[in-house]
Amino acid sequence: MDRRFESLEQLREFMETSHHCPLEATRTNLVFGSGDSHAAVMFIGEAPGKNEDLQGVPFVGAAGKLLDELLESIGLTRDQVYIANILKCRPPGNRNPQAEEIDACAPYLREQVRLIDPEVIVTLGNFATRFVLKCTDGITRLRGSVQRVGKFTVVPMFHPAAALYDVSKRDVLFRDFQVLAGLLPSPSEEGSPAAEPVQGSLFEE
Ligand code: URA
Repeated sequence: MDRRFESLEQLREFMETSHHCPLEATRTNLVFGSGDSHAAVMFIGEAPGKNEDLQGVPFVGAAGKLLDELLESIGLTRDQVYIANILKCRPPGNRNPQAEEIDACAPYLREQVRLIDPEVIVTLGNFATRFVLKCTDGITRLRGSVQRVGKFTVVPMFHPAAALYDVSKRDVLFRDFQVLAGLLPSPSEEGSPAAEPVQGSLFEE
């Protein structure tokens, strides 16, 4: 898929109706993403779980509730950011995404990023972090760092699901969100006209 789309809605419609991956056969709903289509910060998770698959919305289960709390801790709501996943369809039984599924979905994520054109990308967990940073390091090693990928600032963080039953990871996530807050444009910069989407490839293949 190397087509360029004019809007997220157009891209979503294309994904709803085209056949791009075997996971379509087992999903209930496509979980495209949600939030502000010109958000300054975009969160990238792994793949929809059961609740997300049923509702067609990312991060609506227990991990999503923690994500909401983390956003609230820096004065944001999910309407002010954009939330998406590497995979747009739920892997059966919540198994890990497979390499060919990530490959099949990657062009759509790239197009999503191009259209949203965020300043900061937060990668949640190993899969998103390795995909965006093109590395094999684990999130435990990478979190706490602020990276640059092309024009984007990338902040790797623990996946909220990993912090649900691990208080120390939860504390780390809240601290990392404070770092994120410091990277975001100040409110006075908000309201400036949205930049044109970039033309080049975002994450070089
Ligand atoms: N975990 C994810 O990575 N994404 C979701 O949407 C929900 C849980």
